[in-house]
Amino acid sequence: MKHLLSIEDVSREDIERLLARAESFAEVSGRPIKKVPALRGRTVVNLFYEASTRTSSSFELAAKRLSADVVNIRSAGSSVDKGESLKDTVQTLSAYDPAAIVIRSPHAGAAQLVAGWTPAAVINAGDGKHEHPTQALLDVFTLRRRLGSLDGTRIWIVGDVLHSRVARSNILALQRMGANVTVCGPPTLIPREIEALGCEAAVTLDRLEEADVVYVLRMQKERMHDAFVPSLREYAVRYQINAGRLRPGQLLMHPGPVNRGVELSADAIDSPQALIGEQVKAGVAVRMAVLYELLVGSPVLAAVA
Ligand code: ASP
Repeated sequence: MKHLLSIEDVSREDIERLLARAESFAEVSGRPIKKVPALRGRTVVNLFYEASTRTSSSFELAAKRLSADVVNIRSAGSSVDKGESLKDTVQTLSAYDPAAIVIRSPHAGAAQLVAGWTPAAVINAGDGKHEHPTQALLDVFTLRRRLGSLDGTRIWIVGDVLHSRVARSNILALQRMGANVTVCGPPTLIPREIEALGCEAAVTLDRLEEADVVYVLRMQKERMHDAFVPSLREYAVRYQINAGRLRPGQLLMHPGPVNRGVELSADAIDSPQALIGEQVKAGVAVRMAVLYELLVGSPVLAAVA
């Protein structure tokens, strides 16, 4: 792999290899000195044009734990919101000869464009409503650690599927790993073409007990230019996942940030069934694995030696 732009380009075999590598990096993250020299002398640029806490901090830690030099650029709210200006920025930063550019942008397709403007490896850290491939990989990693295999696992993705890049990348990755995916939410927040992706669609939580894993999405208010639900209160009444709606044994996931009291209740967030903290933790090891795969690419053991 030269870039990581979309889960569409990643085979099950690639995912298995990345997860094995992430497992060895998780071991590094458990050491008192959480560093390996794999990327010493190489530069990673993190370019974030949209709000981020988990993704930006974990990419930064991942690159630092691999001993890379890291440059973090954030320009949320600045004038860089046109393709041409992004191009200028990327070409300017490419003068530092970075090994990788990690890009988050509010525009679908931005990472693909960046890959055409720089010789660096490009990692999509979320492009508008399109994809968030490292989120999907860390979710698969978290679930595999808990369940062993995902073959035949039933996963319900609940909430604002329409505006969610996490839903798109997760549907692709989870299915590739053998899971059956159902999306659930108000009809206005389920994209029309969703069944073409091979998942079922449900508009009520009536059959939620079928799910082994309930993956809840944030209401993406920043991407809603119309009224998609009558009110957040009404949405919560019908679709909020709370401890009462989860059956024993179901696992609960959310990519964060959570709108507490909207898509998830406090009792669900704090329940032992929630894997939300484990997802965040997995983010560092999985992003180390992705950087390693793209920039070094040799066997797992060399990475941790
Ligand atoms: N953090 C995830 C993303 O950037 C999910 C979210 O924002 O709701 O897509």
